[in-house]
Amino acid sequence: MKAVAITPGEKGSAKLVEIDKPKISDINDGNGVLVEVLKAGACGTDREINNAEYGTAPEGEDFLILGHENFGRVVEVGENVRDLEKGDHVVATVRRPCGDSIYDTIGQQDFTTDSEYYERGISRIHGYWAEFYTENADFLIKVPKKIADVAVLLEPISIIKKGLKQAEDIQRRLDIWHPKTAAVLGTGNVGLLTVMALRLRGFEVHGFGLQEPEGYLHAELCQAIGATYDATRELSVTDSVKKYGEYDLVFEATGYSPIVFDAMQTLKENGILILSSVTGGKRTTDGVPSDLINQEFVLGNRVMVGTVNANREHFEMGVKSIAHAEAMYPGWLSRMMTHKVEGLENFEKVFDILENGGEYGAIKTYFEVKKS
Ligand SMILES: [Zn+2]
Repeated sequence: MKAVAITPGEKGSAKLVEIDKPKISDINDGNGVLVEVLKAGACGTDREINNAEYGTAPEGEDFLILGHENFGRVVEVGENVRDLEKGDHVVATVRRPCGDSIYDTIGQQDFTTDSEYYERGISRIHGYWAEFYTENADFLIKVPKKIADVAVLLEPISIIKKGLKQAEDIQRRLDIWHPKTAAVLGTGNVGLLTVMALRLRGFEVHGFGLQEPEGYLHAELCQAIGATYDATRELSVTDSVKKYGEYDLVFEATGYSPIVFDAMQTLKENGILILSSVTGGKRTTDGVPSDLINQEFVLGNRVMVGTVNANREHFEMGVKSIAHAEAMYPGWLSRMMTHKVEGLENFEKVFDILENGGEYGAIKTYFEVKKS
């Protein structure tokens, strides 16, 4: 079968490879499921791995099959698989509990304390940019047929659901928390999905991006579901509180770390800031009013938390969010899926769009590996 693989540590090494089709007998205990990949999403993580910024091959191998965002159809199940059958649509989670951390042991590998991760398509386990994969049924989420067309967005949504769930859990410290307003920094794929998730919860949502709103699909998508959109050149995040008031919740998804310090100054008392950008650079930020920020965090009981990866629970919440969004905002998620590339052999096109996303006006780029 065909797959797209990289050689870790070698820049721009992505290539099409021909490998053996996996078998359900590769998975122990009769719990194996063979899945035919229908769609596979692409994002900055895949670009960074192909740029050799990180990414690790499985032990004993010198290549890594890319891809963590996925959607497929079950073609065969092991004898002990109970909840899945041939023809079911599924999305697989990404991180696996292969480490020594206590959190791996208790099934919360998304909170692992190990510095080595086991993540499909990212670190030590092959990913989903392939025609088929096998997986233990425990890591597969069944997807209803009605949301099949947009289910490749489930993995990025799961990260957001984890962030929002953490905010909820943390805010239990306040016997009463009725958040009303939120700011979402960055209106790429993750930012827009966050705008959606917060609108579905009834938040007044303010999205911020780099580009001017006129003729900008990202701005239009914010406005289409009742959120505002502002270009930060026109209205900075810090100034925005004069217009919209301070926020109960701020979600950062820009990939530009200095904005975090601005965001910290826009929170209401008891407010929470959720960070989701994996900023791999070495940038430092001068001119940060650190005394002021520190004092406001202390006196106002403010909180900042990171969200990365997600476990089964967050994927399941994501399925509900997608179904809810399809009911409330029909067609909105499909509009986000701007760039379809047919066939794994056209992986170079995917990287071109990822590198030059702005020029292409891309929000979500994905492979159609096989027509469903
Ligand atoms: Zn991704």
